[in-house]
Amino acid sequence: MPELPEVETMVRGIRPHIEGRRIREVRVPPCRCRPLLIEPRPKTIARRVAGATVDRIWRRAKRVVLSLSTGDAFAVEPRMTGLMLVDEAPDDSHLRLEWVFEPSPQHEVNSLWFWDRRGLGTIRLLTPEEQAVVFGPDRLGTDALEMTETEWREVLSSTRTAIKVALLNQKRVAGIGNLYASEILHLSRISPEVPAQELSRKQISRLANAVPAILNEAIRYEGSTLGDGTYRNALNETGGYQNAHMVYAREGELCPTCRRGTIVRIVQAQRSTFFCRVCQRKPRSK
Ligand SMILES: [Zn+2]
Repeated sequence: MPELPEVETMVRGIRPHIEGRRIREVRVPPCRCRPLLIEPRPKTIARRVAGATVDRIWRRAKRVVLSLSTGDAFAVEPRMTGLMLVDEAPDDSHLRLEWVFEPSPQHEVNSLWFWDRRGLGTIRLLTPEEQAVVFGPDRLGTDALEMTETEWREVLSSTRTAIKVALLNQKRVAGIGNLYASEILHLSRISPEVPAQELSRKQISRLANAVPAILNEAIRYEGSTLGDGTYRNALNETGGYQNAHMVYAREGELCPTCRRGTIVRIVQAQRSTFFCRVCQRKPRSK
């Protein structure tokens, strides 16, 4: 589930502890669970990162990136249940990778952990050439927080896909996931079922404003911890934005915006969408 706000929260949480630190070793803890995708093999990783410094920690779409002094970079994709931690983990049995740093007098923490209960996350050490491909425009569009209204008009004008499904296409716009797509469309008063191409200029303008409004607010709350309790920030604390959700997982409740409609759940491209048919009305098809 970690989407843009949660991954951004991870980046901000680990940055003061890890940026500028020299890597002593990278270890795979013993784990009896489904093995994680780690590329290349841990032995090769160990050889390539020995003595390297973590120069910069940043986010590309829904990945945490650790750029190293050697030019290589770790791209960590938490996917469903992955966490980046500099504190105690929710449990010890799902720790997947440990970055150990040379001790330094300014820092209390000497380890960074990747924890993943379901094990669907991925960790890749990428060369500069691989980074150009993996982070490049053929794979990922502009970051959702950097999109201009003009860019929104461009990327949405070329597709008849339902707007909710179009928002999840990372090649069009990078970083929006299933949860925040519902919240963004609700704030924009746009039906998730409208073909992207049919949005009016006014609707696109509202969407362009709603995206940073929702995502930045969620970052301020350090993300959403849903009912399964999995998502935690870098210090193993829950996020707070789940209490601010207007529609997500609120099926059957009275719409808090118009106080007339009832929140409904539909399925689009195998994912749940939550919305209010009253204030997110679908225009009659042309
Ligand atoms: Zn409503």
